[in-house]
Amino acid sequence: MKTKATDLTPCPFCAGPPVTFLRDIIGRKPLYWPEQRLSEDADEGLFVGVYVFCHECGAQGEEVQEVVYTEKDVAELIDNARNAWIGRDERHRDLFESSKPVNEDDHLDKYFSKEAACKP
Ligand SMILES: [Zn+2]
Repeated sequence: MKTKATDLTPCPFCAGPPVTFLRDIIGRKPLYWPEQRLSEDADEGLFVGVYVFCHECGAQGEEVQEVVYTEKDVAELIDNARNAWIGRDERHRDLFESSKPVNEDDHLDKYFSKEAACKP
């Protein structure tokens, strides 16, 4: 089942409206599809990235990338990117847990030390 724009859930940070964005990765420019058609030469694929972002705060879902040859390929990428935006699960919880020791030594935290704090 294809995920339509109206199926997208609000931004998880600010509840803003989500937007689906396509880009030509090699050409480093937005892909206005379907106005901008794929090449007539079926052998020449286009490296496309698709993600959903929040129009208000800019939060971005995972980008899915693939070399596409047909409009069906593009539609599949759009569907995958939208499902990545909607999907809220614990698939990376182990990475979060394993990064905790690293974060204890975060170099930016030195700016929050008492010495660096502004005096009133
Ligand atoms: Zn937002």
